[in-house]
Amino acid sequence: MIPGARLILLGRQGAGKGTQCVRLSRHFVVPHISTGDTLRAAVREGTELGAMAKRVMDEGGLVSDEIMVGIVRERLLQPDALGRGYILDGFPRTVPQAEALDTITSELPLDVVLDLDVPRELVLERLSARRVCRDCGTNYVARGGEKLPWICEVCGGDVMQRDDDTPEAIDHRLDLYEQQTSPLIEYYSRNGRLVVIDGVGHPDEVFRRLTQAVDAARRVI
Ligand code: AMP
Repeated sequence: MIPGARLILLGRQGAGKGTQCVRLSRHFVVPHISTGDTLRAAVREGTELGAMAKRVMDEGGLVSDEIMVGIVRERLLQPDALGRGYILDGFPRTVPQAEALDTITSELPLDVVLDLDVPRELVLERLSARRVCRDCGTNYVARGGEKLPWICEVCGGDVMQRDDDTPEAIDHRLDLYEQQTSPLIEYYSRNGRLVVIDGVGHPDEVFRRLTQAVDAARRVI
């Protein structure tokens, strides 16, 4: 395995993207850049951006392209991302964001765009059971009847259901995904940068498929 990679992991929310991104970032020794985590941190810090993002996130909507592109541009200019690369999680979510990213990365282009493919029905089921540590972001699966919050095994923080994991917000986000984000699949397919990965199966097996795809893409480049 060669360290360093410039990747995007696309896929419906609840496809297991977050957990796989954390594993991929350790494997390839690159920062995991999650725009959702960045916005949630801004909410916790009580910044102006956080207040605006909370309203949008609670409704399951999307923060404006201009704000998101600004956040990502600034992050990709940090020395770790410039030197080793990154895994983008949750960005781009729209075609204008993808176009802006192409401009930002024109000198150091992406190695590959991975689409973690999990059917909508399965994702709905998984998201309804998702619980997340408020402090470190570790994901858990509720089996039913657990009292909230419970204690995170990784950092001792509070494990909760996300405010935007209500059935209405989940449905709205999945609709938004079909309308705005799925055109990205076409955008990246057109120039041969997209690899679709079957996201159904044991997480270790899905991880193996992802790393194989990255290694294959880097051999071609
Ligand atoms: P996530 O953690 O990726 O599920 O993101 C949580 C929420 O943050 C989303 O439902 C959006 O409201 C907002 N968000 C995150 N990334 C973006 C983005 N690239 N563009 C617009 N909104 C975003």
